[in-house]
Amino acid sequence: MVFTHDTASSLQAAVALANTAEEPDTLTTVEGLAEFYAEHEYSGDHQRDESELEAVRAVRSSLRELLTADRDTAVERVNAILAEASAVPRLVRHDRLDWHVHAIDDEAPLARRVMVETAMAMIDVIRADELNRLAICAADECGGLVLDLSRNRSRRYCSTACGNREAVAAYRARQRG
Ligand SMILES: [Zn+2]
Ligand SMILES: [Zn+2]
Repeated sequence: MVFTHDTASSLQAAVALANTAEEPDTLTTVEGLAEFYAEHEYSGDHQRDESELEAVRAVRSSLRELLTADRDTAVERVNAILAEASAVPRLVRHDRLDWHVHAIDDEAPLARRVMVETAMAMIDVIRADELNRLAICAADECGGLVLDLSRNRSRRYCSTACGNREAVAAYRARQRG
């Protein structure tokens, strides 16, 4: 295990959310956000309305910047996000999740919680000097982020769709000789 469970979950959610901003945008409805919330096992405040959707959509570019920043820049951003949110880390246990860290009030808006959770996860990534676990998709013309938590660092594509497309392209290139 590269990171603790809560750190890995937060990174997975952050990458998935940032990637919804890639064309075509795949986070455009309140229902879509509710699915994201459920899929990534968020807890706490969830308004299920347009203003929450807009707020979450609006943090995607900041998320992407944080997840792709060099180490020193990431440190600055993490510190700024945590200070701005007056984050107070505490251990919590809820639902079926064992002890993990929450650093912001459960009633804070979802968009803000996503930023703080991602910043907390990046603390581990930065300290372990594992920023190369985060990369841009190796597929042509894809800007999607890839989170590689595999032991042998084998993950190169943001999605199976990208992996398949590249495999087909490589096959065709071989056929042409
Ligand atoms: Zn939790
Ligand atoms: Zn991709």
